[in-house]
This record gives sequence, C-alpha cells and structure tokens, in this order.
Amino acid sequence: MLRIGLVMLQGARHAHMAALEAASEHSGIQIDVHEIRKLTDLQSYDPHALVLPGGESTTMRLTGLDQSSSLLPGLFHWIRDNPSRPVLGTCAGAILLSDPQDGGAPLVDAMIDRNAYGRQSDSFQDSVFSPLLGREFPGVFIRAPKFTSHASGVSAMHGEEVVGVMSGNVLALTFHPELSGDSGFHTWLLETASKEGMK
Ligand code: GLN
Repeated sequence: MLRIGLVMLQGARHAHMAALEAASEHSGIQIDVHEIRKLTDLQSYDPHALVLPGGESTTMRLTGLDQSSSLLPGLFHWIRDNPSRPVLGTCAGAILLSDPQDGGAPLVDAMIDRNAYGRQSDSFQDSVFSPLLGREFPGVFIRAPKFTSHASGVSAMHGEEVVGVMSGNVLALTFHPELSGDSGFHTWLLETASKEGMK
C-alpha cells in the first residue's frame, strides 16, 4: 500500500483525491491518502509521494508558516531530503516548488511569475502536450503562473510555452490536472512512487 500525502495548506483536496483514486484503479496500485496539515503529520505519516494542490500561494505561505502548522519550511526540507519520493505540485503548488523562499535551493530548477496570464477572467482550458506522458493532456489554467526560465526537464508545453517542468522526481505544472478528468499525471506519481519503493 502506497502512502500518498496530500498537502493541505489551503482548499482543493477533493479533486486531487478523486484523481488519485482514478489513478489507483487505472494502475492497479493500492493507495492510502492522508491529509498533511502540520509538520508532525508529514513526519508521522512518512509518505511515499506528495501532492501540493493549487490555491493562493500567498495564503498557503501564511498558513504553512503559522505556528499551528509549521509545515513550511519543513516540507521543503523533507522534499530535499527524500529526492526519490515523487512530488506533484499544481499551479500554486508549482509556485511553492519553484520559489520556496526558505533560503534553500528551489525544488524544481525554474523561475516562475505569478498570475502571469492576467486576471481570473483570463483563465482558460486548452490542450497541452506532455513529453512525460507522451501525449496530449487537457490543460485547465486558473490564474496560472508562467515559468520565466527553467533548467529542468520539460514535462508539459502549451504551444511554445513551457507549462510543466521536472527536476528529478519533482513535477511542477502550472495548470490543474485534477480538474481535467484525466488522471495521467496522478498515475505517473503512483507508478514512480511504486518503482522507487521497490528499489
Ligand atoms: N494565482 C494563484 C497564486 O498566485 C495560483 C492559482 C492556482 O493555484 N489556481 O498563488
């Protein structure tokens, strides 16, 4: 049974849970999903893989730095200390991975610009191509950030725009795969965690 930690700094958990369940069914990999709200949750649950959902990164930083949670920056240290354990960060999750602001190295080797497409009314859906999945994927962009530079692998493109990067097993997407009805990236997470766990 794979232990999947869903980082709960703010909102947006149900869609990720549904996508993880679909990925579990698709891959035949049994999972247990646990919400990670405090640093002690992370330490005691010891997940094989992590999901960092979207939301509002400023709120997420405030929540995570609050003494009642203390999840940040311990979460970033944990990711650096466990490089084989895959991480999927979506939208604001990708912002935190690219710009952890804890004095340490970014978790993906990229720079990111928040709200770079404009306002809420500029949110959109369009097909992206994922070299990681080797196919098209439905991209749901909600007040999405843009990568302004990257030295890491490209995991998704929207036309000429890089919308997904990957450093090691840390995957950062500027869109919301959990809202697309396609569990391809969640399946990648489970399959990678399962392979790493067997080493
Ligand atoms: N606009 C948000 C931010 O800057 C990200 C939006 C999202 O996660 N959908 O944090």
